[in-house]
Amino acid sequence: MATIFITRKIHPLGIEKLEASGHEVFFSEKEGNLTKEEFLVELQKRAYDAVLCFIPDRIDASVFDAAPSVKIFANYAVGFDNIDVAEAKRRGVIVTNTPDVLTNTVAEHTFALLLALAHRIVEADAFTRAGKYTGWVPELFLGNDMTGKTLGILGAGRIGTRVAYHGQRSFDMRVLYYDVKRNEHIEKETGAEFRESVEDVLKESDFVSVHVPLLESTRHLINKERLAIMKPSSYLVNTSRGPVVDEVALVEALQKKVIKGAALDVFEKEPALAPGLAELSNVIITPHIASATEETRFKMGELAADNLLAVLGGGEPLTPIRA
Ligand code: NAD
Repeated sequence: MATIFITRKIHPLGIEKLEASGHEVFFSEKEGNLTKEEFLVELQKRAYDAVLCFIPDRIDASVFDAAPSVKIFANYAVGFDNIDVAEAKRRGVIVTNTPDVLTNTVAEHTFALLLALAHRIVEADAFTRAGKYTGWVPELFLGNDMTGKTLGILGAGRIGTRVAYHGQRSFDMRVLYYDVKRNEHIEKETGAEFRESVEDVLKESDFVSVHVPLLESTRHLINKERLAIMKPSSYLVNTSRGPVVDEVALVEALQKKVIKGAALDVFEKEPALAPGLAELSNVIITPHIASATEETRFKMGELAADNLLAVLGGGEPLTPIRA
């Protein structure tokens, strides 16, 4: 029997699967995320064999030092920028993530943000609730069509490809993309055209959607200079990771109407927002919920649990991260 630590409560069905396996499962009793100090204290309470962790948990050398018996950290996310994967590899510790099961949901959320921006749904909802709607007006909350426009995808992996698919299939959008690797699948499925640089995508797109992982090479991928290349009529959506966009530069660009609007599900200094961001009417912000549906949260818990159980049973993890 192994001992498993889960850094916060997850969907009951994911947990049941772990408990039904006969292993001992312990949770953090704290409401909310553990601080690093609390996390280290928790890890030292028992000789854990496995940990199920979440995006706010920073898994680095101090964590590996505090929990030398842990064989696997199963991250409840596809992104793994919260984990020092190279250090894990050096120590022979397995790290897993939850790819694929959340792709459709994140693509849907991205499209919800794109449509809400283009049709000014959030602003119009607040206006109507405030009792300001006094009669039909032809120019009230004029938005923009998505149909027939150009959609720029930065990072044409699983999620980027699915967003491109929705744009092309449902809205006849022309899709452009930039990725460090050319992706034949997105080209075949959506007619997407590869561009040699981020700049080449930005200057032609009406809507830009960012889907790269957070790496040193993608930190501030969208910065002041690149925002200036975008069309003044264009919109930016980021559902990847906050530091991929220079949020201070974005606020300034939105204030100065360098671009028309933006929607963010992730923030550079999460959960804090850049000064001025929340005051802008041409911005939509959601609290890192792009994969948060009942169906997908369940599947993420299940996949994280399956990874733990496979490794604890002496087998190979289903979705390992290779440094
Ligand atoms: P993926 O690995 O399938 O796709 C990422 C793509 O980015 C790959 O094609 C890769 O080649 C490309 N890429 C890497 N570096 C690049 C660079 N410098 N320039 C351009 N392209 C580059 O990953 P995915 O499953 O599509 O997920 C993408 C990201 O979305 C995750 O890493 C995660 O950070 C984020 N995400 C956020 C949420 C949320 O809740 N907001 C949910 C799921 C995923």
